Amino acid sequence: MTDNVFAPPETEATAPFWEAARTGRFVLPRCRSCSEFFHYPRLFCPFCGASDPDWQEVSGKAQVYSYTIVPLRMRPVPDEWPVPYVVALVELDEGPVLMSNVVGCAPEDVHIGMPLQVTFGDADVPVFRPA
Ligand SMILES: [Zn+2]
Repeated sequence: MTDNVFAPPETEATAPFWEAARTGRFVLPRCRSCSEFFHYPRLFCPFCGASDPDWQEVSGKAQVYSYTIVPLRMRPVPDEWPVPYVVALVELDEGPVLMSNVVGCAPEDVHIGMPLQVTFGDADVPVFRPA
């Protein structure tokens, strides 16, 4: 991931997320106090304020909450970057919503509520494919 300029930077709060992703595992922070999952990773619970969250492997099951199709190369990106592509808000079965990509289907087949499953791309970044 270190040479991927498109991946978010790894910080103290996000390191467990990226370490798991590098081995194909999808983990989320979960509060030790109120048991809520949350994303993005941070050092305190956004629900109750407790610090030192636990990390737990999650199902990777999700659905499309919202999405857009990016039709053009709006910025300089590698030639292998496929266009059009789908940027989606993905609602995980465990609750959190995260921004990701939907891959493995035609962009015009994506719809709100579409069942998804996490997968990992070449850059160890979790993306989602149709379940
Ligand atoms: Zn909490």
